[in-house]
Amino acid sequence: MKFVSTRGQADKVHFSEAVAEGLAPDGGLYLPEEFPDLSKFINEWQNLNYSELSYEFFKLFASDIDLGILQKIVEDSYSEFSHPEIAPVLSLNSNLKVLELFHGPTLAFKDFALQFLGNLYEEQIRKSGKNLTIIGATSGDTGAAAISGLLGKKGVRVFILYPNGKISPLQERQMTCTGADNIFPLAIEGTFDDAQKSVKEIFSDLDFKLKVGLSAVNSINLARILAQSVYYLFAWLKLDQKERNQTIFVVPTGNFGNVFAGWLLSKMNIQIKGFRVATNQNDVLHRLFQSGEYSLEKVSPSLAPSMDIQVASNFERLLYFFLDGNSEKLRDVMNEFSKKGKFCFEKFSIQGFSSSSVSDEEIPEIIKAVKNKYNYTVDPHTACAFKNLDPSAKFLILATAHPAKFPDVYTQSGLEKPSSPVLDSLLDKKIIKYPVGTSATEIRDFIERNY
Ligand SMILES: *Cc1c(COP(=O)(O)O)cnc(C)c1O
Repeated sequence: MKFVSTRGQADKVHFSEAVAEGLAPDGGLYLPEEFPDLSKFINEWQNLNYSELSYEFFKLFASDIDLGILQKIVEDSYSEFSHPEIAPVLSLNSNLKVLELFHGPTLAFKDFALQFLGNLYEEQIRKSGKNLTIIGATSGDTGAAAISGLLGKKGVRVFILYPNGKISPLQERQMTCTGADNIFPLAIEGTFDDAQKSVKEIFSDLDFKLKVGLSAVNSINLARILAQSVYYLFAWLKLDQKERNQTIFVVPTGNFGNVFAGWLLSKMNIQIKGFRVATNQNDVLHRLFQSGEYSLEKVSPSLAPSMDIQVASNFERLLYFFLDGNSEKLRDVMNEFSKKGKFCFEKFSIQGFSSSSVSDEEIPEIIKAVKNKYNYTVDPHTACAFKNLDPSAKFLILATAHPAKFPDVYTQSGLEKPSSPVLDSLLDKKIIKYPVGTSATEIRDFIERNY
């Protein structure tokens, strides 16, 4: 299996190269050249546990990795999850289910991809004998998960940019209290989008990239997307056969990585009724699906900070399919978008997608309502998925983070404060972070001194 760039001006690559590159050399994102038909494996895969399923799935894509090694990478990646099922599915009632994705080491769904990516990087270093420099921008959870996935690994240094003061104090502690000397949390003055922009710019400096052995952990990395497809499949296989093609997955969305990973399964002949893109008040994607206009507004900090994003970098992958794989047209759209901050499609509808948006006023109300109705506590991101659900339709909600990661919203709304021993243990540790300017030059200089 090979992978192509959305922008159509880069060579096709194997899985390991696509993972190592992150962004393709033409500035595009990698996608599989073709899609396997998974429907023929359904019976065989029905009763597999999480790592077994993940192994079978990746065998189809990671054809350049030795099978024994792939198996070990997958097993290691899910060995530190605290729930025996890794990704348990709970029923709130007969029509409403929750897929809990927060039992990994940093208590958010990003662990699924980043534990795996960390192990892939380790294998790459072992094989090539070359060190790696990992860089990523985070609105909170990605950074913590990336750091956890790469903590103490030999031959790799990790530089994570985050907007100073704009992530939760506990998220900051998860990144800055590790004590590991290969980890550099960079607190920048600016927003997540500023950080992401600098990361993209640094990547376009090919000399620098080569010199420090640069790779990315952003949700643009192909391995992350595919690793996330696995839990959709795992949950889908757990549904009764007659529910499978009737269930809509509701996905709290920021960068569009998570929901895109689910949608990819429909390209692999898995029958899913639909996907609902659930945004917070930063609703660029909701507006797109409503009106066809993809346009930037200022990021407005919300109670669901990991979704405080305007430029949804994985959107380019969906766009590729929307434009029937026409890379030339895609380059035009992306160019115009990057010049004007907006692009108007006559209509942007893709079969199966719907969307919703939740204001900050609504989030605590939803948390309370869900608690009262189902005696279940959701985090502020997951809360966004509960808006306007038709009680007669079947929904499966992705619970993206553990409520204890975002305690303030509960104390402010007079609710019981959720807790987690993993997070409590961070409170007496020392914070180590590096304040750095937002420009690509300042960040590059810092890396140059520390890689
Ligand atoms: C990252 C994150 C999201 C958004 O996921 P995307 O892949 O960026 O759409 C939602 N909820 C939580 C808790 C997150 O950490």
